[in-house]
Amino acid sequence: MTIQSFTFNGFMTNMYVAHREGEAAIIDASCASSAEQQQVDAYIDEHDLTVTHLILTHAHIDHILGCAHLESTYDQAFYLHPSGTPFYDQAAQQAQAFGVTIDPPERSTIPLTPDDTLTVGGVRFRILHTPGHSPDSVSLVADEEDIAFTGDVLFQDSIGRIQGLPQTSKADLMASIRTKLLPLGDAMTIYPGHGAVTTIGRERKQNPFLNNQVPGFAE
Ligand SMILES: [Zn+2]
Ligand SMILES: [Zn+2]
Repeated sequence: MTIQSFTFNGFMTNMYVAHREGEAAIIDASCASSAEQQQVDAYIDEHDLTVTHLILTHAHIDHILGCAHLESTYDQAFYLHPSGTPFYDQAAQQAQAFGVTIDPPERSTIPLTPDDTLTVGGVRFRILHTPGHSPDSVSLVADEEDIAFTGDVLFQDSIGRIQGLPQTSKADLMASIRTKLLPLGDAMTIYPGHGAVTTIGRERKQNPFLNNQVPGFAE
């Protein structure tokens, strides 16, 4: 599977096009400006891809700024964990609170839960519910490819923010990382919502939040 990453908007939010055999999933919608949106569309065009899935790791504003554009361009709705629906439906209010502008999405989301499996170009993604940074955070795991899209749960040398955001939980966040992400194994490559690509092995060894190096995050 080929993974193309983009980093867009003032929050420096990653989005990914994951494709194989001409089928593509778009993971998160951080393309905010028309120039950013054109970059994504050009990539899809140049590689002659059919977008089969639009997926959100969670519905924070920085991940949904391009939803309206992608919904209409690729004529489909986004998959989102059901607990993210209120955030999605209040996109305009979220934007106002963070001082950004948005073309609000118009379609209802498709509920995405741990019972679901999504297949993209023959690659199966299972869904892990990994709340804490937000109630709706999910991680998409393709075991056969050793890749996972984890949104704002686990970053290189950091973890998802829990201060100044609604409905966060430090206990849930740490449980999501320790009981759902770390067991994916050291070889698993992590494509996060912000910052560089990393691996479970690297973060298990070096992430200060997982190694008793940050006050308040000791085991
Ligand atoms: Zn977030
Ligand atoms: Zn984010």
